[in-house]
Amino acid sequence: MLAKIEELLEQAKLAIDSATSVEVLYEAKVKFLGKQGSFSHLLKEMGKLTPDDRKTIGKRANEVRDILEGKYAVRENLLKDQELNSQLEAQKIDVTLPGVAPERGVLHPLWRVTKEMCEIFSRLGFSVRTGPHIEKDFYNFDALNIPPDHASRDLQDTFYINDGVDRKPGDFSPWLLRTHTSPVQIRSMLTEKPPLRIVSPGGVYRSDSDMSHAPHFHQVEGLLIDQDVSMADLKGTLGFFAREFFGSEVEVRLRPSYFPFVEPGAELDASCPFCKSKGCGMCKGSGWIELGGCGMVHPLVFKQVEMEYPKWNGFAFGMGVDRMAVVKYGVSHIGLLTENDLRFLGQFRP
Ligand SMILES: [Zn+2]
Repeated sequence: MLAKIEELLEQAKLAIDSATSVEVLYEAKVKFLGKQGSFSHLLKEMGKLTPDDRKTIGKRANEVRDILEGKYAVRENLLKDQELNSQLEAQKIDVTLPGVAPERGVLHPLWRVTKEMCEIFSRLGFSVRTGPHIEKDFYNFDALNIPPDHASRDLQDTFYINDGVDRKPGDFSPWLLRTHTSPVQIRSMLTEKPPLRIVSPGGVYRSDSDMSHAPHFHQVEGLLIDQDVSMADLKGTLGFFAREFFGSEVEVRLRPSYFPFVEPGAELDASCPFCKSKGCGMCKGSGWIELGGCGMVHPLVFKQVEMEYPKWNGFAFGMGVDRMAVVKYGVSHIGLLTENDLRFLGQFRP
């Protein structure tokens, strides 16, 4: 029996020493020292022994159990330390590695251009005014000398807002999405005292959509009301703007044109900043790029807002922000500006 105890001791020592994890070690403990373990089975047979043998063997059995429990405790601590170390190793942070840079947002090119345009005009004493996107037809049309039978009032051109009132066919609701930011100028002329120098940036809406037109686009319009204002003042102001915006070599020209709210009216062109007026794809070979419309404020507009004319007179101009962004950044297709493609927008990092 003593020999059996020694044999079990050797087997248990080997099992404990070779255990590579706390779980395997615990299994070994259960196998040898547990209630149903080999050692317990052996001790149950002690009853068959003579009292002398029982004394000798019992003493050795206690020694062996103490040896094994001691070994178990030592091995358990070692394995627990190893497991903790390998967990810490896995979580170790190498502070010398380069960090992960957070994504930085950028201003949308349309907003960037709007801001820059307003900043340039602010250097000439213009201040910014904004107004509602849902307007009444008086501010959007009547006050701007656009009579009820004018083509731009057609359903094809304007988004009317349903106000729930039953009307005869052909009669429209007086509420609409503004087709230009000019109603802001009317609101200023009605509520502020001249002289006035204002720019009105913002979104506008027209009921057409094709390759070169979007139903929603953006404008910056300007209005100057003072005494003895002339076309020369208008051209000087817009020339200053174009040189600040595109570069000092750019020139502007005015071509006679018609807008109901100005007289005389003109189209504003700038010499092409891409080809220096030699002709290229951006200016369609003409050397000139169309920026917008302008002119001297029509006497009938002064009448609508009850401002004394010709004691006060002035000029107005309007430019499309989308168009300005296309020319400024050489964007190949105007639709890119509103597609929200991050590969495109990400190029506008300062
Ligand atoms: Zn060109």
